[in-house]
Amino acid sequence: MPLSRIDAAGMLQQLMIESSPLIEEYTRELCPVCTDVCCRQKHGIYRERDILYLNALGTAIPARDPARPLDGPCEAIGERGCAHPRWLRPFKCTWYFCDPLLEAMNDGPQKKARALSRAMKDMIECYDKLKG
Ligand code: SF4
Ligand code: SF4
Repeated sequence: MPLSRIDAAGMLQQLMIESSPLIEEYTRELCPVCTDVCCRQKHGIYRERDILYLNALGTAIPARDPARPLDGPCEAIGERGCAHPRWLRPFKCTWYFCDPLLEAMNDGPQKKARALSRAMKDMIECYDKLKG
C-alpha cells in the first residue's frame, strides 16, 4: 500500500531527528570555521514540499521576512547555528552537503559515512512521497 503523506511526513521527521546528531558530528567541526557559510536567506525558504510536510505534521510554517536580501544571512541563523531543530528546517538545509562536508565523510570512518548515506537515502525517499 502506498505511504500516505501523513505517514511519509512522520517518517521523515523521525529520520531527521535520529540522524541530526550524526550530521552534527561533521558540521560542528566544519561550520564554525567556514569562510563561506551556506545559510543564506534564499536557502531557508520553505518550498512547496516543505509546506506539505509541515502541514501533514500539523505544524505551523516558521514565519519568514520577505524584505530580507535573499543573498544575505538566513534570518534563522544565530550565534550557535540554526535556531530551528533540523526537522523544522526546509529539507534543503539537510540534504545539501558542501564539498568540505563530503570530503570529511570520504576521509573519516566509513561506517559512520555509510550510516549517514543510508539515512539520507531514506529521507529523500520520504520527501519524494510527500508529492501530491
Ligand atoms: S555546511 Fe559547509 S558551507 Fe555550510 S556552513 Fe557548514 S562548512 Fe560551511
Ligand atoms: S539551516 Fe537554518 S539558518 Fe541555515 S539556511 Fe536552513 S533555516 Fe536558515
